[in-house]
Amino acid sequence: MRVVFSPKPRGECPGASSCGHSPRQHEEATMPDHRRLGRELDLFDSDPLMGAGLPYWLPDGAAVRHTLEEYIRGVERRAGYQHVYSPVLGKRELYEISGHWSHYSEDMFPPMDLGGEQVVLRPSLCPHHALIYRSRSHSYRELPLRIAELGTMYRSELSGVLGGLTRVRAIQLNDAHIFCTLDQVADEARAALDLIRAAYAALGIEPVRYRLSLPGEGGKYVVDPAMWQRAAAVLTEVLDQAGVPYESVAGEAAFYGPKIDVQIADSAGREATLSTVQVDFYQPERFDLHYVGPDGAKHRPVMVHRSVIGSVERAVAHLVEKHGGAFPAWLAPTQVVVLPISDAELPPAAALVERCLDQGLRARVVGPEHGSLGARIRVARLVPYQAVVGAKETAADQVAVRLRDGRRLDPLPSGEFLARVRALVDAHGTDLWDDQTQE
Ligand SMILES: [Zn+2]
Repeated sequence: MRVVFSPKPRGECPGASSCGHSPRQHEEATMPDHRRLGRELDLFDSDPLMGAGLPYWLPDGAAVRHTLEEYIRGVERRAGYQHVYSPVLGKRELYEISGHWSHYSEDMFPPMDLGGEQVVLRPSLCPHHALIYRSRSHSYRELPLRIAELGTMYRSELSGVLGGLTRVRAIQLNDAHIFCTLDQVADEARAALDLIRAAYAALGIEPVRYRLSLPGEGGKYVVDPAMWQRAAAVLTEVLDQAGVPYESVAGEAAFYGPKIDVQIADSAGREATLSTVQVDFYQPERFDLHYVGPDGAKHRPVMVHRSVIGSVERAVAHLVEKHGGAFPAWLAPTQVVVLPISDAELPPAAALVERCLDQGLRARVVGPEHGSLGARIRVARLVPYQAVVGAKETAADQVAVRLRDGRRLDPLPSGEFLARVRALVDAHGTDLWDDQTQE
């Protein structure tokens, strides 16, 4: 059964004259802030009793998140990644070995005492993947070995800075680790950058800049100058060959290695890292990882850490602001809304929704009980495809389609409409309609 959440009024204020807010406050209330839109569009919310920085996802938000996760998994499968699951907890010792405990503990939740040992909510997935790699012996023929997981990690942010989906304490990370030889690092980093660029095209995201993040002053970086130089040289080569403008910034590296960060900006112009590619010589050493080379001897692999869309929370927050809730059709919580002109067309409208669902599309009927056709089109204004069904269309098994951007298509057979929407959704593009094949 579909859970229905009643729509809330748009904006925070009932009206400019009565609410007592300044023009500035009104301006802020109409900015595409993901927290406001997330609540208005019933995507996600939070409850003080669940805790700050621990949002929950409502059905429409969950549909967007699920679709995004499935897209990423598909892209990764086709790029030769293998998916794993690993636990969100680990023994404190695990993070002592990985270096997180000494370099990152201020961002970690305090350990829990459990039967004489201490376990910790994980601050990253890398140590688990290193252990998964180490659990089997590997020949050079298996490399590069790409292990991916959409897994949760935790960050003990202070409650004062928490909010929406961008400052959270539990993070769903689109993570992967590539175990490879030194010779393979550049190709793997380059391929990861290509995945990022393809995903941005599908999602309609534009990076504000690429950043080569290098170590800075202070003790938070592991000490091995030769290692840092070698890793930075690889990433520099990758960026130069990719032909993207970038800047080098000291003090933004991971504690174990330099990285390429793909930066995005929110509606207020605040910059954040969404995607990343990192080269790591450190953790393979710490976990004593190896592979058997052609010479029959043991060799040390390199770890490439990469994330295509970063955390699901940050990615969705950005998409909500970027598109103002009008997601690309393949990602929209409702892709097709069916609008019967009168009660007489309710049965054919329900049948059309069934056919959409059979095609794997997300669809629903908004019937005359919700008001005039014009009013219902306004309510469904963010739905990419609005199929109007009247007596004439029913008799001919056709639909009169209105696109979200206001374009009206000539009535077309229902089957053709479904097939074309399905094809557009499968293409993972940002176009609402393919005009090339329309005539
Ligand atoms: Zn990692």
